[in-house]
Amino acid sequence: MPDFNVVVIGAGNGGLTSALTLARNGLKVLLLEKHNIPGGCATSFIRGRFEFEVSLHQLSGIGSEQKPGPLRMLLGELGILDKLELVEMKSLFRLVIPGKTDITLEADRSSVVETLKARFPREGAGIERFFDFLYKFSAEMVAVVFARDPAASREKYPLFFKYALKPTQQILDEYLQDPLLKSIITTYWTYVGLPPSRLPFSDFALLLWAYIEFKPYHLKGGSQALSNVLLESFLACGGIVRFNCAAQKIMVADQKIRGVLTEDGEEIPCSYVLSNAATLTTYNDLIGPENLPRESFQTFGGKTIGPSGFTVFLGFDRRPEDLGISETTNFIGRESDPERAFARWRTLDVPDSALLSCYNVSDPDFSPPGTCQAALVTLQYADPWLSLPPSQYFGAKNRIARGMLNLAEQVFPGISKHLEEVEVATPLTHMRYLGHPGGAIYGFEQYAKDSSFFENRRSFVQGLYFAGSWVASGGYQTTLQSGVSAARAILKSINKRT
Ligand SMILES: Cc1cc2nc3c(=O)[nH]c(=O)nc-3n(C[C@H](O)[C@H](O)[C@H](O)COP(=O)(O)OP(=O)(O)OC[C@H]3O[C@@H](n4cnc5c(N)ncnc54)[C@H](O)[C@@H]3O)c2cc1C
Repeated sequence: MPDFNVVVIGAGNGGLTSALTLARNGLKVLLLEKHNIPGGCATSFIRGRFEFEVSLHQLSGIGSEQKPGPLRMLLGELGILDKLELVEMKSLFRLVIPGKTDITLEADRSSVVETLKARFPREGAGIERFFDFLYKFSAEMVAVVFARDPAASREKYPLFFKYALKPTQQILDEYLQDPLLKSIITTYWTYVGLPPSRLPFSDFALLLWAYIEFKPYHLKGGSQALSNVLLESFLACGGIVRFNCAAQKIMVADQKIRGVLTEDGEEIPCSYVLSNAATLTTYNDLIGPENLPRESFQTFGGKTIGPSGFTVFLGFDRRPEDLGISETTNFIGRESDPERAFARWRTLDVPDSALLSCYNVSDPDFSPPGTCQAALVTLQYADPWLSLPPSQYFGAKNRIARGMLNLAEQVFPGISKHLEEVEVATPLTHMRYLGHPGGAIYGFEQYAKDSSFFENRRSFVQGLYFAGSWVASGGYQTTLQSGVSAARAILKSINKRT
């Protein structure tokens, strides 16, 4: 067994980009993953003749070659951009609330504004003013948070400092009247997991602005292609990976990392551990409270575990156009009330709304010729599933999946007749595969008080670092970036020591 500089626990987005960055910089890195494939959420699985995408719906931050977004630049820095085939989506989304609205927004600012003005002519001036504000705010946020302007101040960036933590709903109410219009503009709130009344404007603004400016993307081969390329590059740099090999304990003495104990009982000495597992799990289960100062747990006191997902994976024996599916990203809602939809995530009721992603619309090769696959997804908390007797699990799962399919049938009538494969994932599935509390897919809730602006990234153990959704906000772009940042922090620490 060679000596390792760093053991990375977990091969999700954050674990993979950190492992690759460290290996590219000449460190000896061991990557431990409890599952048998790399990716965490960023994986696929096979049923029949379909390879189903687990999680990726719309990749943010890519941009074009001429106007690259932060994620395109990051993939370039990691040396993997030319190994990926990026597929641009022309539309942000189609939103259908049966009987109320059916609207498609293209990923282009003037088109979004014109489409909304045409639908809500009396709100024309407010729509113009809102999007002006969104763009000015986002420019300030980029300067303060991402470009880290050292001269940042309230005077220089007044919009950012005044509005970053204000609820999104409050900003919308300042500019617009019609509740339906506000619902359309905030359709993406489900991507963050908090309704507009509780969602900090900074999170919402950046999401909408970035999808318009850098366009939503998908990947040929799905997210598994990205995870595989990251892993192959890591191995090519001399990294070592072990699958089906969970870290069972992180060995600590005097609040310093001493090594990792695998579930096979092997002790691997090292001075640095990068954990892509949840912070809570890392401190509670892998290190153990007896090895930690009390204050390490106080950090978690006010935090809330975020939602997991409920997905119905659908394999059809028809092409999307045969089923009436013309957009990749389709939000379907019975109601346009986010509060009600959010409340339902805490129950085992059939959700009011769902997202139907059909990758074949942007990429016809995504499944065998003459077929297509779609993911019908809603967020959901694990709590009601955890209190459900095991004997009722399959009944609840099938009932909700059927209810969601009925919802989709209202927009795409007859699709159920063309189903060839169906698989369902619940919050318990995510708990099992990811090992995260509540099967949370974005880590902690994104309330203003838990905002990444206030995140204390200090680790309570020397040599312990984190990457992934529990220390960054959830999503591909942020977790991929977080791995690179954590790796840089380790490199800096090693350089200092030597
Ligand atoms: C249904 C769904 C839809 C989504 N849609 C989108 C989308 O469209 N756009 C977007 O940007 N984001 C989306 N996301 C969110 C995004 O996928 C996640 O936020 C992101 O992939 C999480 O990455 P991570 O680095 O936190 O690692 P995770 O994916 O959480 O992986 C953690 C890894 O650590 C491993 N691990 C845990 N404990 C141990 C241990 N003790 N030993 C060894 N290994 C361990 C796990 O097995 C896992 O592989 C979606 C997620 C889901 C599930």
